[in-house]
Amino acid sequence: MSEPSDPHTGAAAWRNWAGDERCGPAAILHPASIEELSAVVQRAAREGRRVRVAGAGHSFPDIACTDGLMLKLERLAEVIDVDRESGLVRVQAGITIHGLSRHLAEHGLALENLGDIDVQTIAGAVSTATHGTGAKLGNISSQVRELTLVLADGSTLSCSAQQEPEVFRAARVGLGALGVIAEVTLQCVPAFTLRGVDAPAPLEETLAGFEELALANDHFELFVFPHTDTALTRTNNRTEEPPRPRGRAADYLNDVLLTNHAFGLFCRLGRRLPARIPQINRTVTRLASRSVRVERSDAIFASPRLVRFTEMEYALPREHTTTAVRRVMEMIEQRGFAVPFPIEVRTVAPDDALISTAAGRESGFVAVHMYEGMAWEPYFRAVEAIMDELDGRPHWGKRHFQTAATLRERYPDWDRFQAVRARLDPEGRFANAWSARVLGDV
Ligand SMILES: Cc1cc2nc3c(=O)[nH]c(=O)nc-3n(C[C@H](O)[C@H](O)[C@H](O)COP(=O)(O)OP(=O)(O)OC[C@H]3O[C@@H](n4cnc5c(N)ncnc54)[C@H](O)[C@@H]3O)c2cc1C
Repeated sequence: MSEPSDPHTGAAAWRNWAGDERCGPAAILHPASIEELSAVVQRAAREGRRVRVAGAGHSFPDIACTDGLMLKLERLAEVIDVDRESGLVRVQAGITIHGLSRHLAEHGLALENLGDIDVQTIAGAVSTATHGTGAKLGNISSQVRELTLVLADGSTLSCSAQQEPEVFRAARVGLGALGVIAEVTLQCVPAFTLRGVDAPAPLEETLAGFEELALANDHFELFVFPHTDTALTRTNNRTEEPPRPRGRAADYLNDVLLTNHAFGLFCRLGRRLPARIPQINRTVTRLASRSVRVERSDAIFASPRLVRFTEMEYALPREHTTTAVRRVMEMIEQRGFAVPFPIEVRTVAPDDALISTAAGRESGFVAVHMYEGMAWEPYFRAVEAIMDELDGRPHWGKRHFQTAATLRERYPDWDRFQAVRARLDPEGRFANAWSARVLGDV
């Protein structure tokens, strides 16, 4: 079960998707059953080591890093049970959203909503409150109906709205800090087709109508490049039209060559010539044209991401969303930050997980990105200062500079989460440097 270690340092090596967070776990282990999971956690307790699960490594900060035992669950990636009638589907925690969507489609089912990519593990996506867009749709964690956890003493605990409800509300967005999620039961919906329309539109008009657009469509989001006055809108609605899959060659041309490689080229140019970024952004925006696709939902939601970047995203009370976008755009102009990536704007419905980013409020999400190899910290700090003033909560899987002290006041149920954490993991077996900073010591 152990990964070969570095011959020079003796440690195993791990890094995240963006490649800018690395760690040297004492060992990387690949358990293949709940019994093996329990045994690893018990072994860690005996050896006085910490434990952290890494999913697909698609979080931007050091949230999955550890110098203790790192667990990877790709051998726990099966669909356990599908109930077509109720839409309840039980899976092992290491399955990717992509793998799950494929299985669901075979049974005429789908996940109600997805984010931009589908390569995350289901447990990783659930643990950080990963979301798509849709003012009336919750994040992926809100679709969870039951979780089976392996706890710090190696025992297992199942939780749901009926059984251990407080643990369930905590573990639905548990940040890897409560135990190892071994199994997840999700509420799925009958498979559906989406009509996806991408179209440029005047920025001011789009921001003025944002609330209406978000409420009138199943899924509405917009991208806007700094120094431009055009929103690149994406509107996905359910349709009864028959799907018209593009085929592999067209997928490759659009998703890989045009979207990724051409964009990557512009980013490289911007990194070399930062003073030209305003002009480059205007060119990229002018190249965007209207396109319509009608496909199975998961094919419309997710697309490949080959250009590497790092990201910060804030959840805001929805009424503050457009103010945040305008203020970030102004701040970039004033401070002269070189930003070759668009700002992304989405909406999510409220839920009741104790520390979900959308807990208890209708939320708008504003995300900022920086191309690999370019300075991100000054830009992200300036964005964070704006989000702080607008009652923002940082996405748990993305970069931020908050600490337990600055986060506590943003979550009415913060102390309840901490009480569950203290009960399930009194010795901090699942702690790491990230959790010490963001959640505080147990
Ligand atoms: C290109 C890109 C696009 C993205 N798009 C979106 C988007 O559209 N919407 C959005 O909300 N986010 C998005 N994200 C962020 C991403 O969805 C989250 O960071 C997600 O948590 C990553 O899942 P993962 O499987 O890679 O988990 P990791 O990043 O490896 O781990 C995340 C956390 O989950 C914990 N964890 C993982 N598995 C388990 C388990 N079995 N038991 C207990 N804890 C566990 C880890 O310990 C860690 O704390 C994107 C990220 C990238 C790189």
